[in-house]
Amino acid sequence: MTGNQIRQSFLDFFRERGHTIVPSAPLVPGNDPSLLFTNAGMVPFKQVFLGTETRPFVRAADSQKCLRISGKHNDLEQVGRDTYHHTFFEMLGNWSFGDYYKREAIAWAWELLTAVWKLPKGQLYATVYTTDDEAAALWREVTDIGHDRISRFEDENFWEMGETGPCGPCSEIHIDRGPDACDRQGRPHRCQVNGDCARFMEIWNLVFIQHDRDASGALSDLPAKHVDTGMGFERICAVLQRVPGNYDIDVFRGIIAAGERIAGKRYGTAERDDVSLRVIADHSRAVTFLVAEGIVPSNEGRGYVLRRLLRRAARHGKLLGIDRPFLHEVVGAVVETMGDAYPEIVDGQVRIAEVVRVEEERFALTLDRGLALLTAEMDRARTRGGRLAGEVAFRLYDTFGFPLDLTEDILAGEELTLEREGFEREMQAQRTRARGAQRFADAEAAPEIAGGAALASRFVGDRIVEWESEILALLGADRQPLREAASGATVDVVTAETPFYAESGGQVGDRGWITTDAGARLEVLDTHKIAPAVAGHRAVVRQGAVRVGDRVRLAIDPERREAVRLNHSATHIMHAALRHHLGTHVKQAGSFVDDSKLRFDFSHHKAVGTGELRGVEDEVNAVIRDNLPVTTEEMSYDDAIKAGALAFFGDKYGDRVRVLRMGDYSVELCGGTHVERTGDIGLFKLDGESGVAAGVRRIEAVTGRGALDEIRRHEALLGDIAQMLRAGERDAKVKLEKLLEQQRELERRIQELQGRLAGGAGRDVLADARRVDGATMLATRVDGLDDQGLRDMADSLRDRIGSGVVVLGAVRDDRVLLLAAVTKDLTKRFHAGNLLKQLAPMVGGGGGGRPDFAQAGGKDPSRLDAALAAAYDLLGAAGQ
Ligand SMILES: [Zn+2]
Ligand SMILES: [Zn+2]
Repeated sequence: MTGNQIRQSFLDFFRERGHTIVPSAPLVPGNDPSLLFTNAGMVPFKQVFLGTETRPFVRAADSQKCLRISGKHNDLEQVGRDTYHHTFFEMLGNWSFGDYYKREAIAWAWELLTAVWKLPKGQLYATVYTTDDEAAALWREVTDIGHDRISRFEDENFWEMGETGPCGPCSEIHIDRGPDACDRQGRPHRCQVNGDCARFMEIWNLVFIQHDRDASGALSDLPAKHVDTGMGFERICAVLQRVPGNYDIDVFRGIIAAGERIAGKRYGTAERDDVSLRVIADHSRAVTFLVAEGIVPSNEGRGYVLRRLLRRAARHGKLLGIDRPFLHEVVGAVVETMGDAYPEIVDGQVRIAEVVRVEEERFALTLDRGLALLTAEMDRARTRGGRLAGEVAFRLYDTFGFPLDLTEDILAGEELTLEREGFEREMQAQRTRARGAQRFADAEAAPEIAGGAALASRFVGDRIVEWESEILALLGADRQPLREAASGATVDVVTAETPFYAESGGQVGDRGWITTDAGARLEVLDTHKIAPAVAGHRAVVRQGAVRVGDRVRLAIDPERREAVRLNHSATHIMHAALRHHLGTHVKQAGSFVDDSKLRFDFSHHKAVGTGELRGVEDEVNAVIRDNLPVTTEEMSYDDAIKAGALAFFGDKYGDRVRVLRMGDYSVELCGGTHVERTGDIGLFKLDGESGVAAGVRRIEAVTGRGALDEIRRHEALLGDIAQMLRAGERDAKVKLEKLLEQQRELERRIQELQGRLAGGAGRDVLADARRVDGATMLATRVDGLDDQGLRDMADSLRDRIGSGVVVLGAVRDDRVLLLAAVTKDLTKRFHAGNLLKQLAPMVGGGGGGRPDFAQAGGKDPSRLDAALAAAYDLLGAAGQ
């Protein structure tokens, strides 16, 4: 059985017996600040046993990830030296919360081991607590274990959560691995259960929680009895796979193999190499899971545990002759072998590898020099009783980044010891110095900033979203160096290292937060370059205060970075697609990428046609669906150009450049942040093409969620329109066309009706017309129309009479309106403007206009009828 099958069969066995399978709780305990890491299967259920929490089930089974590395200085040292210690391990467990008790726990454990996993009964032994007659009787009653294989122990078989609280007897199952497994061969002793050799091994502990111990030490019975069992996963795998040690099981095999491949060594050939290969395999697992939970290397707490593990593993790589950062590759093997059971490491794989690589590179800067110093000092120590001076260990710690247990680990390998008092003395002295030095730190940093060059801040890589570093400088307005920045201040914060991308290459700077353990919170609004190698975090202090020298935690806004990443990668694909569709004269003339969109300017002599745009959009989306791997590689500028990389728009390139590759589709120089595979972009949607200057076009586009949002906006708009039309989306267009047609028809009818109404009660005003020489003369009163109505009516009357003159008069709001229109054929004989010039004074006004059309106003409505009668006279139609 493979490890994965063993884990699964354990869970299946208990699922069939009514247990709820719960996923592993995190390594970082959520509700227990006293504990650095989850170090046993019961940790997530502690509050249930204490009665302060409940669960929606009474039976559970799980495989819990655990990390055991106490604050004590020398426990890490043992891992790798033997074949059964681990930092990271898995614990299989089944649980009863006030439900079943000893009978079922014992019967099922026996059934799984002997009936399902077929372990030989003749090799198994059970132990019970000295006074636990109940458990002893149950072993005889519900299993067929040989009665002489049940024995009683005192300390080994009583379990306590702590000084006080839940506790109870336990029953263990041991296996006899045969005389060859004894590691005390030849020395006088007896191989036995709970003995002192490796032949008998405990494989499963069944804890029966039935008492509560009070402060006086007295035991009382708990109201409910619980079962808590634990079986070391790596150990049971070794037993079932019949291999000599935990590191020989398949789960470790793939990880060890990665170490073998990188080092060019074989496991099992030389003990010294085997130790290093085991250290690397064990620590790589721990590191992978720690970083997956968001921990980054630092000088304190959990971050320091991670740093110690990484550095110890890096140093063992050195021992194997590996001369480059390599642990981030071993992480891949961990994900390969354990990703099925723990998907969180698959999801975080790229980021984990990046965090590990950065820490390896950082340590590589000092590892060799530190080792040289230590080697020389160890020679001196040998001549002085085998003790290394504490000051040396401190120097290694302070200057070369050697965690104390790394130095001790190296010493132990050479059978030397350390003078710890000396180390502690130096450590204390440094703390005192640091407090005094704080006051001078800013004053020293200031001239460096002013000078520009001495200060540098390193970008730790585009997969890392959180990092710890120290403040090198604080700059206020006009780049004025500051001692400290307090709440409300806006400052540029410069740190030694940062996960924040500083605006460059068209990509916006990151936003996020900078915090300290002392409670300071700074909101980073933008990140920009103060000098070529110096990133400034433009931040507002929201809470507390920071000083130069403070250790800070830098966390970018990951969602924003992710959106920027998609837009930036899509820009490169679009660039290549444009060259395919428009020609290779297309060159980037500028670009801007933020979290909402991408903007790309390029050389092209005319507008890009709709068909070409669609072709580009299709090609970009096809490349996205191809899901090509995206890789970056540092190389010399010359090598990059030889490799076919496109370099553009007067960017200043250093000697070393970053080459971005998307499969074989695109190769460009770029220092920005990018997706892992083109498929991550999801969707690409063009959002406009325009000209920005002669020969320069601009395309804007959206990707990922942004593209989806854009499409949804259009969809919502169409939905709203359809709803307003009371039509389905598909019928909306036809319905709208119909409505517009109806509107045109209605307008026509309104005009017609207005015309009729104007004459009063449907009277046809043409009844007043008179004929002169084949032309129609009309002068009539049409009260109630406004200017526009009057004009429209004049137009329509002129059309109807064909040839003639129309004079309309109206009274509105005590004012007189006069209007005259002459058909084209008669403008030689009649002049509309002149006509009104004569009529308007009659109604107390004035006006005039063109020969074919004129308007006038007047103040005397009582004279309107007379004026209209006079119009006929003037037109020579009086006698008709
Ligand atoms: Zn023995
Ligand atoms: Zn780029």
